[in-house]
Amino acid sequence: MTLARRLHDWFRKNQRDLPWRRTKDPYAIWLSEIMLQQTRVTAVIPYYERFLARFPTYEELAAASESELLAMWSGLGYYSRARNLQKAAILMVEMGGFPSTYEEIRELPGVGDYTAAAVASIAFGLPRVGLDGNIVRVMARWTAESGDVKTFTIRTRLQQVAQNQMDTKYPGIYKQALMELGATICLPKAPKCLYCPINDDCVARLQGLQNTIPIKIENTTRISEERTVLWIRKGEELLVWQRPPESKRLAGFWELPEPETLTQAKLFEQLGEFSHSIVNHKYRIILREAKLRGGAGDLCQWVRLDQLKDLPISTVLRKSLRLLKLDPRQQRNEGVS
Ligand code: SF4
Repeated sequence: MTLARRLHDWFRKNQRDLPWRRTKDPYAIWLSEIMLQQTRVTAVIPYYERFLARFPTYEELAAASESELLAMWSGLGYYSRARNLQKAAILMVEMGGFPSTYEEIRELPGVGDYTAAAVASIAFGLPRVGLDGNIVRVMARWTAESGDVKTFTIRTRLQQVAQNQMDTKYPGIYKQALMELGATICLPKAPKCLYCPINDDCVARLQGLQNTIPIKIENTTRISEERTVLWIRKGEELLVWQRPPESKRLAGFWELPEPETLTQAKLFEQLGEFSHSIVNHKYRIILREAKLRGGAGDLCQWVRLDQLKDLPISTVLRKSLRLLKLDPRQQRNEGVS
């Protein structure tokens, strides 16, 4: 039996019930693929459901205010994804529909080769497969690829293998099955080869190399830094500032002030700490209580704590609220009024 056939049969019986697998709507499939970039499935599900309930069509997404859009995305990270979604939705309104060819989908802002192939195959049944981390791992192991999977040459080779093995009758299922296998069986550490539907001819397994492939040669080092953010409250209000629209990162998002920019703050006890990573930076964030000596200045504003849930807030601010058990979403989930 072909690789595609075995994957197909296994996927039909074993797939997880995920909300974006219950639809054929290209808009919803595209949304899920964008949200799943850099983000785990379990984290995406509640965001996907909330976002789709608020913006069920690309027309409604195109008409959303930036503030509401970012508030709906707040906590998912990589906010350029949300902005690109809206830019793409506006283009769709202008074009009069969701694009239906691979080339047109690939032209949308925020859509790369992988996402274009995913939407094209799942929503439109087009014979395309892209590479993501899961598919790279499965293909590298199945062929016992001994090269560095981060290089262009090896990725091109794996892409060709994946494309050649596709069942062109069911490209969407083939792509999803490969993903599912990588996410649930062919795990990065300790793959569950005994339960794998393609273990008969997986070369890495036959050669005992399943724990050493894929090969990745690391060439970046993580930079560790410490940052202090200030918790300044006045009754039910918190002192925060909003990043200006021209900010390179997180434009429009609300942040906690820092001692370097709010020099009139007097620092008191440490309330806690947490880690926060951005690309190859790892920050240790220290949350300190502070009070103002004088006015708040032009940069900062007082905002009621209960209004923060409707604003786009940075992950550092969200983690600080969570640390102090004040995150509105956390409170909703835990049933705290
Ligand atoms: S047999 Fe093991 S290593 Fe090979 S694809 Fe299956 S889970 Fe991955």
